[in-house]
Amino acid sequence: MRKPLISRLFPLLFAGLLLVGCQARPYKPGPPLNASAFMQVVETLTAPEMQGRDAGSGGIGLARDFIVGRFKSLGLEPAFMIDGEPSFTQPLAVRTGKNAEGKVIEAPVQNVGALLPGSGNLKDQVVVIGGHYDHIGYGHYGSRAKEHKGELHPGADDNASGTAGVLLLARHFALQHHNDGKPRRTLFFTGFAAEERGLIGSRYMVRNPGQWAFDAKQVSGMINLDMIGRLRGDDLYIFTDATGEQWRGWTEEANEDVGLNLKWDVRAPGGSDHSMFISIGVPAVFFNTWLHDDYHTPRDTADKINGEGGTAVLQVVAGLAERAVTEPERITFVPPKPRPPRPYLGVMLGDAEAGVLMQDLLADGPLDEAGAKNGDVLLSIGGKPMSSPGDVRAFLAKAKAGTEVKVQVKRGDETLDLTVLLGVRR
Ligand SMILES: [Zn+2]
Repeated sequence: MRKPLISRLFPLLFAGLLLVGCQARPYKPGPPLNASAFMQVVETLTAPEMQGRDAGSGGIGLARDFIVGRFKSLGLEPAFMIDGEPSFTQPLAVRTGKNAEGKVIEAPVQNVGALLPGSGNLKDQVVVIGGHYDHIGYGHYGSRAKEHKGELHPGADDNASGTAGVLLLARHFALQHHNDGKPRRTLFFTGFAAEERGLIGSRYMVRNPGQWAFDAKQVSGMINLDMIGRLRGDDLYIFTDATGEQWRGWTEEANEDVGLNLKWDVRAPGGSDHSMFISIGVPAVFFNTWLHDDYHTPRDTADKINGEGGTAVLQVVAGLAERAVTEPERITFVPPKPRPPRPYLGVMLGDAEAGVLMQDLLADGPLDEAGAKNGDVLLSIGGKPMSSPGDVRAFLAKAKAGTEVKVQVKRGDETLDLTVLLGVRR
């Protein structure tokens, strides 16, 4: 079991942090994959001025500039072409809510990306190493700690740890000088915006390949790092490896020198950006050190990150990426088995005293069709009381798409019974 270096240094560090505020430790180059460099990025991205890296905050802009600054310092090339100009950022807009007049509020955000050009007859093919760099700000949405709404949600594990992984691997590969003449695929290092608001950044990226500085058809594989900072018992979870025939074998070989417990075939604890690449036929594999109680709460802080564990995860990923970059054969895509159609209600949910707030209804969606209104409070579905968005997700996970359900809502002092025809999502 890897006892995190940090926990032995914690009292000292904590005192240090209190003394100097959230100053990240000094950046000491050294070998690319090391716990100190890993923690340096995590502490930088979780500092108060990063404001929990939510879309529309000043903090997400600081995080963007920090990442782009690192890409430039490594001599990497811009990954996007925006209005005919090479760019390290791909701009898009995100809906963040509605103002008092009901007008949609949108915030500008940017995906970030950089290329390490390959060589020889493989250089036109591209392997993606990515992770989202946003989080949920002050927990006004997506927080699992209602009582702490309005407090900073630093997102150290989710996903400052994955972003640290992308930056350390960029440096790891950028510093390698290959004069072995071996052909190498190009590496695309990327940070996705607005993952927490529904994979918005990665969806936009895969739907706008015209803005990529390379041919989208040449993407031969994608590695997603989301929450790799809390390794426990050396257990490293790997998801969606079945989308590429070679993923599992290459990962196991890469792990031989590292010796982590590779956890395969476990149902993923949630979605993430890799699924957007799978949706365009790219074999994608997702690395994660599993959920924990601090997930999506103000307690997801840098002092709980296992820097040595994160570094060990990156050693496995570096070995896997090296195969994906140099193996003559392209990874064979295996389309995921079609999932049964999923039911949906068509609503953005929020928290309420008793019940669940219907914050933003999808126009002409199932609930809208049934007569529900923004601001209504959902009390029960199918006779089951609902007290959190999680309850609604759990209900939908078991419900059948395209069937009718009874929904009880509160509107002011009125309690209304609605019949809702659940939507069908393919
Ligand atoms: Zn995440």
